[in-house]
Amino acid sequence: MTNAEVSVTHLDEGVRRVTLPLPTGPRHVHCYIAGGTLFDTGIGLEPPSWRELGVERIAITHFHPDHVGGAEAAAAESASVYQGALDYAQCERVWGSDDWPERIADWFVTHGVPEPIVRDLIEQGHAFAPFIRFARDPELLYEGSEVDGWEVVELPGHADGHLGFLRDGALIAGDHLLARITPAVGLYPESRPDPLGDYLTSLERTIELAPRVVYPGHGEPIDDAAGRAKEIIQHHRERLDVVSSALSAEPLSGFDISHAVFGDDLSPQQRRFAVAETLSHLERLVREGRAARAGDARNVTYTAP
Ligand SMILES: [Zn+2]
Repeated sequence: MTNAEVSVTHLDEGVRRVTLPLPTGPRHVHCYIAGGTLFDTGIGLEPPSWRELGVERIAITHFHPDHVGGAEAAAAESASVYQGALDYAQCERVWGSDDWPERIADWFVTHGVPEPIVRDLIEQGHAFAPFIRFARDPELLYEGSEVDGWEVVELPGHADGHLGFLRDGALIAGDHLLARITPAVGLYPESRPDPLGDYLTSLERTIELAPRVVYPGHGEPIDDAAGRAKEIIQHHRERLDVVSSALSAEPLSGFDISHAVFGDDLSPQQRRFAVAETLSHLERLVREGRAARAGDARNVTYTAP
């Protein structure tokens, strides 16, 4: 291996953790190798030689750039790629279609996001997409599928088609459960309608599965998965209360409400995440009877019920 920033850590039971640098965010992402299977591929900038690391097949937890972006390069070096069926459909739609930046921008406009923030989104989207080299036509995975002895568990929330891989009490979990970061859960166009509801259910499921150890995409392994899942459920319950208390009889957009929840001082990119996160909470509140959605296809607003 030539990249000095790549590090390999030997974990329990023959699982190796390969840590790759990221230019942004948590600054690193973990991939895992067990037997000949590589779980997640990093963003694809200066990847290590996966073949030298003994990789024969690749499994993807979810289609976000830091997990799927290196898949094409990794696939060229090894063999088959396995990805969730829903996750691959969304991966193709977002990274593989020319007009996605315009479509997501239009959708943000319906939620009150102003023109300059949306224009920035379109420019960045077109600049970024060509670098996300996901692998085409993977073997599709579903709940209960198996990859090299690992059982596939669907854990929607952070991404609609997010998968976990479970074997002997170890759960390779992507960004479903992280030790120090609360995974982002946003509403996006052409996606499942209640991602926060999905996520809370996936966290309850994690408590039931009670894995002995969780290997996450960022940060250290998690020994107390149930405890961490309960903390994150509590966090979202509190945030639902904050979002609920921002509602009144006056119709407000997701953009307006994101200011009440996340403050005024955000970059355009942070604002987009804040709006998506606010909307996932609003849609959960609608389903709990604690918010009402109004408006039409061009202009969506929320009020107190
Ligand atoms: Zn990630």
